[in-house]
Amino acid sequence: MFKAVEIRESLLVADPIAMCELLVGLGEVTVLDVTDTGSRLRVTVETRGRRPECPACEAPVVVKDRDRVELTDLPCFGQPAVLVWRKIRWGCLRGCGSFTEQASEIAASRLRLTDRAARWATVQVGRHGRSVSEVAKDLDCSWHAVMDAVAAYGQVLIDDPNRFSDVAALGLDETLRCRLGKWRRQAWTTQIVDVEAGQLLDVVEGRSAQGPIDWLANQSQAWRDRIEWATLDLSGPYRKVFDTMVPDAVQVADPFHVVRLANSKLDECRRRVQNETLGHRGRKDDPLYRARRLLTKAHERLDERGDAKLRGLLRAGDPHGEVQMTWHAKETTRQIYQITDCDLAAEFVHQLADDLRDDSMPEEARSLGRTIARWRDQIVAWHRARVSNGPTEAVNNLVKRIKRVSFGITNFRNYRIRALLYAGKPNWDLLATVTPR
Ligand SMILES: [Zn+2]
Repeated sequence: MFKAVEIRESLLVADPIAMCELLVGLGEVTVLDVTDTGSRLRVTVETRGRRPECPACEAPVVVKDRDRVELTDLPCFGQPAVLVWRKIRWGCLRGCGSFTEQASEIAASRLRLTDRAARWATVQVGRHGRSVSEVAKDLDCSWHAVMDAVAAYGQVLIDDPNRFSDVAALGLDETLRCRLGKWRRQAWTTQIVDVEAGQLLDVVEGRSAQGPIDWLANQSQAWRDRIEWATLDLSGPYRKVFDTMVPDAVQVADPFHVVRLANSKLDECRRRVQNETLGHRGRKDDPLYRARRLLTKAHERLDERGDAKLRGLLRAGDPHGEVQMTWHAKETTRQIYQITDCDLAAEFVHQLADDLRDDSMPEEARSLGRTIARWRDQIVAWHRARVSNGPTEAVNNLVKRIKRVSFGITNFRNYRIRALLYAGKPNWDLLATVTPR
């Protein structure tokens, strides 16, 4: 209320140029020109009242020249806006040479967005997960202008040493980031996640052991010592990471990946039997092909009709009952996670691994059995830890959303910044005060 009165009084006494400066809102600048080109507003400004000294010899300086730097600003009155900054080139009186003016409240050096537009873009892309091209369209500037700004301001937020503290349950998970080059080579990343907080701690390139090992080596011993649980998919490299870097943490196989493996073995079996009985890959009228969705669906989610249909299709297409056995193996694997008692679960998993490896089982079920046997301790540990992969999945979903909106970001550094701004829980209150890199 008080502020509104103040502004109104200042407008009463101000001349039109001062009013203009008030609207532009950049403090000590003189507005030289405002034009409306029909599609955008162009505001030309220069700073006033500054006279630095020569950074080399501290001698007085003189204005040598003025550059016209065009910066994309926040849209104004419903139009895209360009701030034309008549940036001073100072010359040293003692002849050290010249240097250009800096005014961080107008724009950070090298960026093509004004400071306020850059901060806004960082929130849009980083916090709200909007695509860079969408935001570039809002501002009427290039994709790179926005991405450079988000990178410069966002980097400070994700490097904030207080972004995460102690972690009790650490998870590793692989994600396909993009495909690169002529051969569409898959570019993988490893997500390092606080499973309990549902926070993306970091992203490293590749899905081998080395990236996460280096990352963990960069954290303090005390930090590593506080990790009690280490969750992983059924992958050897991540097991090696934990064995090497956090040997005392209890490793937990993530239920999502265990069930997914059972489903993919079932799928393999279905395709093999299909091929063996009909001599070709699945076609839309083949019984096993028609059963593929019913097979991988959780049994309790099939209604009576679905169940009857599945049984009928198996009778028609599965002469030796192999698909049915592997289906049963998948359903039994899922049951692991319905058991609440730890000892009972251990016994159940032990028995399942044995049963599946029996000679009478189809090869896909035996393969599943071997994997379950190899990871038995990690699978059973879930019952003790109850560190379900719920939060990790939540983080995965976040990163999937990032992937969806950031299609085409092949640059790992940009990918990392975007993923961490979106899913790494940075302290957004810091944005108002950070100095971009
Ligand atoms: Zn000088």
